Amino acid sequence: MAEEPRSDCLFCKIVAGEVPAQVVRETETTLAFRDINPQAPTHVLVIPKAHHPDGAALAAAAPEIAADVLRETGEVAAQEKIAGSGYRVVLNTGTGAGQTVFHAHAHVIGGRGLEWPPG
Ligand code: 5GP
Repeated sequence: MAEEPRSDCLFCKIVAGEVPAQVVRETETTLAFRDINPQAPTHVLVIPKAHHPDGAALAAAAPEIAADVLRETGEVAAQEKIAGSGYRVVLNTGTGAGQTVFHAHAHVIGGRGLEWPPG
């Protein structure tokens, strides 16, 4: 079940318009905006508007919205014209994996060559 918007959650504040963001796409259930510290020429975050702490929690509680987020990553890639050259979708899950904002988000990263495995 979706949690209520959290006053201590940065991405809930972006959804509410209380913190500015460079929005590139919006649907009824999702928001996509540019990362403030881009790691590639295109670096967009796609989030559910509802608060879920990470991607796994989102998929368990609201699989239809998880599907919306995943679909939107593809729409962002097409809109940013990185689909042809290849791009990466990343869901950092847990502090050990580098998650710093505990509101589910998919990074859409592209516009340059990407190494594998990631660091
Ligand atoms: P995580 O490390 O949790 O996977 O990703 C969080 C992302 O949010 C980071 O890439 C970070 O640069 C981005 N971020 C942190 N604060 C802000 C902010 O205020 N605005 C935007 N647009 N992105 C932010």
